[in-house]
Amino acid sequence: MEKRDYYEVLGVSKGATADEIKKAYRKMAVKYHPDKNPGDKAAEEKFKEAAEAYEVLSDPQKRQRYDQFGHAGMGGAGFGGGGMNMEDIFSQFGDLFSEWGMGGGGFSSFFGGSSRGGGQRVRRGSDLRVRVRVTLEEIATGVDKKIKVKKLVNCKSCNGSGSADGSQGEACPTCKGSGRVIQAQRGIFGMMQVQSECPTCHGEGKIIKNKCSHCHGEGVVREEEIIDIHIPAGVAGGMQIPMQGKGNAAPHGGVNGDLLVLVEEEEHKDFLRDGSDLVYNLLLDMPTAILGGQVQIPTLQGEAKITIAPGTQPGKVLRMRGKGLPMIDQYARQYGTGDMLINVGVYIPEALNKEEKKMIEKLKESENVRPGASDKKNFFKNLFG
Ligand SMILES: [Zn+2]
Ligand SMILES: [Zn+2]
Repeated sequence: MEKRDYYEVLGVSKGATADEIKKAYRKMAVKYHPDKNPGDKAAEEKFKEAAEAYEVLSDPQKRQRYDQFGHAGMGGAGFGGGGMNMEDIFSQFGDLFSEWGMGGGGFSSFFGGSSRGGGQRVRRGSDLRVRVRVTLEEIATGVDKKIKVKKLVNCKSCNGSGSADGSQGEACPTCKGSGRVIQAQRGIFGMMQVQSECPTCHGEGKIIKNKCSHCHGEGVVREEEIIDIHIPAGVAGGMQIPMQGKGNAAPHGGVNGDLLVLVEEEEHKDFLRDGSDLVYNLLLDMPTAILGGQVQIPTLQGEAKITIAPGTQPGKVLRMRGKGLPMIDQYARQYGTGDMLINVGVYIPEALNKEEKKMIEKLKESENVRPGASDKKNFFKNLFG
């Protein structure tokens, strides 16, 4: 396949600034990140293509050389353009991905990290992604769930080796077991050595002759597995919980990928969520707003009584400390609890009978029902700030 122009790949102009290039690459990396597109080959190619383009355009020297000579100037080790594999990308840009909140650099935090990076050439199974729906009640306390996952596991017939006789296979004759081949390529500055994946063994370094019939030599089979997951208290929709090694097994041994649990929050019938605070809309009847009294409101821990002060204005926000959701840091450790905010409204009745109308008419004669200048000022200040 003919290589596309690097500027075109990132969708920037030839005169783009370093900042514009970085931003454009971020967009592509987010869109095509393998964590987001598990098993999607087309997305993986786009991800690689963007990384290669960024690798060149983010380096002033390489960029200048590319501007001058195009792809022909990019051949050879250390000059990019030789095609980056996933490990290269994660070892080179892992820190950048972490900074952007994507999987790829170390696993320092509970939510962010993935076990990639470090640049080791160990075969690794692909990551799996599952969605888990949780209610606000479950978020308040944390919850354990069992989920059914279809995933690649090591074939039991051959212990994951892929060979019928249980052997580890023979060294690949093309690459002599290294999994990589070095080819000479003509570049603008003469012949260059380019290292790439061995086409015979696809980088595995070995060939299996007597294939296991159960897994057809793959070493892995697809199976359903029940996985226990713990959702810590305080999580929010969109958070991702990585479970190391619970993803797909790698063909012919190697390390398992991760299981990425994407948290989805169910809408609650009573509450809106604002970070660790809960918001509840309370509509009072007129007499209670005027005379005060006790009203029952729901909380995640059951019904609670609150006292309404006499003369409570619509638009007032009452706060119940500690009746919100747990506040957690990036390691899912709780450091506090949010509040419940109660938005107070007052219901003005629309249809009244004769008698009721009379009562209101009577009320109208009273001095105290008419707002004064300071009442007006306070009311709207409270309502709109
Ligand atoms: Zn080979
Ligand atoms: Zn097998």
